[in-house]
Amino acid sequence: MRSQNFIDNKPLIYLVATPIGNLSEFSPRAIEVISSCDLIACEDTRNTAKLLSFFNINKPLVSLREHNEVSESINIINKIKDKNIKVVYVSDAGYPCISDPGHKLVELALQNDINISTISGPNAAINALVASGLPCDHFYFHGFLDPKKKIQKEQLNKLKNKEETLIFYEAPHRIMDTLNVMYEILGDRNACLARELTKKFEEFIRLPLSKMVELEENTLKGEMVIIVEGNKEDNSSSYNDEQIIKLVNEQIQKGLSTKDAIKITSEITKINKNSIYNIYHSNK
Ligand code: SAM
Repeated sequence: MRSQNFIDNKPLIYLVATPIGNLSEFSPRAIEVISSCDLIACEDTRNTAKLLSFFNINKPLVSLREHNEVSESINIINKIKDKNIKVVYVSDAGYPCISDPGHKLVELALQNDINISTISGPNAAINALVASGLPCDHFYFHGFLDPKKKIQKEQLNKLKNKEETLIFYEAPHRIMDTLNVMYEILGDRNACLARELTKKFEEFIRLPLSKMVELEENTLKGEMVIIVEGNKEDNSSSYNDEQIIKLVNEQIQKGLSTKDAIKITSEITKINKNSIYNIYHSNK
């Protein structure tokens, strides 16, 4: 399906990126589009009302968030079809759909022959990545890890061989636990914790994970993004998980302790002991 948003004579929903802290990052084009729409669908009407009041804009708001994303998207699409109204969608901060609601609205709109356009603006992941000092040419955005430690470990195990720079969102009350799990599973990689981006107390902490886990928890407040270096190990020997587990088991059958079997397997495969340990124990 090809869509030419400003040529097709079709209804158009704008996804408008909003500031992640600094209100002056709301662009003139965003203000123009919002000022000329009929309805603003938003994640949280109170947050969006505050943003609009700062720019003296007064528009009807309707809440479209995780718990009503499908039903409210259908309502909005019906209103667009019946009354040909102009609709904008904004989340609480940054881009809609990026660790935020909006995707269902996009999907259903496209199925209903409604075009989608975006108004550019800030995004916490990209702001953090480009200033991190870590390679930006290839990156993998994960967003939030699962809060449950066991699932978090499984997710990180799946990511640990990626060579791309890794990007995570995290909440301050979970940051130390998450950094510790990252250190355990990914090993001692270079990382950058970007805090309070675009705000007065914006801070970049560029340290290896081994030093990051020693930070005082009470100094890590506010909103934060974690950028972690991709896998730099030489994987040319490229043993898969099954082969690694087999090698460990062979050593155990020869009478070695699990610890020693992991050490020997690490020497054979040239893969670090931590990684072998994680592969062996998460697949037992
Ligand atoms: N849609 C947003 C975007 O485009 O970046 C992300 C929304 S997600 C629900 C919120 C998370 O983004 C926060 O928990 C934090 O990890 C990150 N974040 C948002 N604003 C930030 C800021 N000013 N500084 C650092 N991280 C931020």
